[in-house]
Amino acid sequence: AKSSGKARYVIFDATMRKRAINRLSLEMDLRHAIEQNHLYLVYQPILELQSGALIGFEALARWQHPEHGLILPADFIPIAEETSLIREVGRWVLREACRQFAPIFYQTKHIRPLVISINVSSRQITESGFVEYIRETLEGYRLPPTCLKLEITESALIESVDIARHVFHQLRQMGVDIHVDDFGTGYSSLSYIHRLPVDVIKIDQAFVQKLGEDEQSLEITRSILHMARSLGIKTVAEGIESQQQYLFLQQMACEYGQGYFLSQPMTIAQVEDFLKSLKDT
Ligand code: C2E
Ligand code: CA
Ligand code: CA
Ligand code: CA
Repeated sequence: AKSSGKARYVIFDATMRKRAINRLSLEMDLRHAIEQNHLYLVYQPILELQSGALIGFEALARWQHPEHGLILPADFIPIAEETSLIREVGRWVLREACRQFAPIFYQTKHIRPLVISINVSSRQITESGFVEYIRETLEGYRLPPTCLKLEITESALIESVDIARHVFHQLRQMGVDIHVDDFGTGYSSLSYIHRLPVDVIKIDQAFVQKLGEDEQSLEITRSILHMARSLGIKTVAEGIESQQQYLFLQQMACEYGQGYFLSQPMTIAQVEDFLKSLKDT
């Protein structure tokens, strides 16, 4: 679905016209949303599967539209990506995640330094000044680069592998790790990914959700874990929805996990309550 909208139409009928107008108005609304603070982030906990310990959060963008209600990233990130707006959205996500995460980092660092993961699109890594903006933002919030993880999808990575290699080396030198998102869907091999400075892969939820149902998903997951381990790459399983999936992954010694079974994404207020409840126990 990510490539839809890239199609070139010769005939422009009424439906397409309507769609184009909606798209245009959404684009204008999105520009507005950034200025008006209608975007916000939710945070999904990432846990260490063996111990159940919290290791950090993934920030996920949300848009509260004044007329259309809640809009999910699947419906506005692609629009942003097709326009220059992804630069603004991406920078806003980084700033907002750092701003909200900084106090949490300082409150909890004596127990265990938590990490924050943000999603970046391929359009962002190729934009000039990307690395500098990250450096300045981290400095601005006095956050160590080691607490920031950038998630980039496997397919985006393959698309722009030469730029990615260059940018990732700069980021790694700074101390910011790269996590490969949606791994297993982009038809690349781990040995290929391994030639990039990548530290963690996230097994796509399509495989995780079929664990226990489907022999093939189990085999794919097992071989990804095996291969990752032999290359010294750690693994996050995403989209864990059941105890059975959780136990499978634990048995297969997958390091980290996230999903509705462990926790839904939370607002920043819920994150603060959640951390308070951890402290109390
Ligand atoms: P993703 O990075 O693969 O994020 C995981 C998605 O799965 C999130 O959807 C999350 O809410 C959802 N999820 C988490 N646990 C479960 C589960 O147990 N079951 C199921 N079915 N889903 C689960 P969300 O928040 O709608 O985000 C969708 C995608 O939009 C993300 O996929 C990511 O590619 C993109 N995205 C989100 N925020 C940003 C952002 O700030 N910047 C960019 N560039 N992309 C973003
Ligand atoms: Ca992600
Ligand atoms: Ca993913
Ligand atoms: Ca995804």
